[in-house]
Amino acid sequence: MKIAVVGTGYVGLVTGTCFAETGNQVTCVDIDERKVQKLINGIIPIYEPGLDVLFNRNTAEGRLKFTTSLAEGIEGAEVIFLALPTPPGEDGSADLKYILKVAGDLGQLLKDYAVIVDKSTVPVGTAEKVHDYISLGAQVEFDVVSNPEFLREGVAIDDFMKPDRVVIGTKSERAKAVMNKLYAPLVRQGNPVIFMDERSAEMTKYAANAFLAVKISFMNEIANLCEKAGANVDDIRRGIGTDSRIGKRFLFAGIGYGGSCFPKDVQALAKTAQEYAYDFQILKSVMDVNAKQKTKLLPVINQHFNGDLKGKTIAVWGLAFKPYTDDIREAPALENIEALLAAGAKVTAYDPEAMDNVKNVLGNRITYAHTSYAALDDADALVIMTEWPMFRTPEFSKMNLLLKNKVIFDGRNLYELEQMKEMGYTYYSVGRETVT
Ligand code: NAD
Repeated sequence: MKIAVVGTGYVGLVTGTCFAETGNQVTCVDIDERKVQKLINGIIPIYEPGLDVLFNRNTAEGRLKFTTSLAEGIEGAEVIFLALPTPPGEDGSADLKYILKVAGDLGQLLKDYAVIVDKSTVPVGTAEKVHDYISLGAQVEFDVVSNPEFLREGVAIDDFMKPDRVVIGTKSERAKAVMNKLYAPLVRQGNPVIFMDERSAEMTKYAANAFLAVKISFMNEIANLCEKAGANVDDIRRGIGTDSRIGKRFLFAGIGYGGSCFPKDVQALAKTAQEYAYDFQILKSVMDVNAKQKTKLLPVINQHFNGDLKGKTIAVWGLAFKPYTDDIREAPALENIEALLAAGAKVTAYDPEAMDNVKNVLGNRITYAHTSYAALDDADALVIMTEWPMFRTPEFSKMNLLLKNKVIFDGRNLYELEQMKEMGYTYYSVGRETVT
């Protein structure tokens, strides 16, 4: 099949590359000329494990192409994916300007029947809006389908190639047949393609992300209570996660969720509820809990240094919002670093993938270390913000020589309390006793 993907970011590039891998002829379109030039030159602008292998194979074999021209990109395409940004607008609702702009342009450009697929996360009713915008100029038949994306950055290729499920919102039999054909190679193991109407598909994506945000925030609240009540949240996680009704995943306490999806999607769903005059109380609490959780360690750090962080050097391990990505959108690390700087501390940070992105935001206001250990040199304390596996079993003997004080503030509960006690660390974590 000939496919166009409009918007070549984390979702668009993975979508385009994976559909090329299953034999389709794919053209990815983006307005960012520098990004497109890089892609044409064989440079992948994001870090996503495993993407390079597929990207190189499919560009070499001519199935994956890039352009800045929408007209050129959609030429002859049977399916046109919209993988465009839907950032929060000023009032918290998803801003549809990118989607509706492209929809309007498509109306002028469509020459034959095509299925326009909304892959972006968009509020209920967007498929209808996209339909209306295309209709303004379209001279040919077309269908608009909602096909929300559930991939996770860091394991996006696996998620896309072997999805737990594919959700497709359309009432058109013609569009259903096209989508079935396209996804067939990805669901051979029998994972379901779930058809529903457009509005339900749009809501499914928000429900999924909001539910996961609730799960994380619930566990973070349990952790906060554990600290007061003298219980250990890790034991509680093991104790409840083995219950198949609860499940083991998304139960790790920490300094809150970030990223380009959960914060904005929870906010957008709350806004949708407001538009329909529904008081969605859990969502309001989740936003509140997460906002507090993200900076939970700051008062602890402050208190440890008797309220005086001036001139103190703080090493920070982890900048990305989660491991295996370079994405720093809404990453807890950024907010915490800003606060540490404002309190007069010096920050030396290390992240295996996200440092270039952070340089674009913080510039030379912090120091960037070449290795995790270099970040510790002469630091007064270490703060852990992202659970990269390399931080889980570091060489403590090396750390002991580099750190000025054996003090760790761990926002991701990477170490056992006993181990920290034995090594003589002062160790603060989340939902567990403090080791002094
Ligand atoms: P992104 O910002 O990484 O990529 C969007 C791309 O669209 C950018 O490259 C931008 O230059 C391009 N763009 C903007 N306007 C354009 C136009 N008029 N024509 C062509 N290209 C244009 O965003 P993303 O993370 O890929 O997210 C895209 C959508 O997918 C969002 O709605 C997001 O909520 C959703 N989503 C994201 C993830 C994720 O993990 N990142 C997962 C599931 C769903």
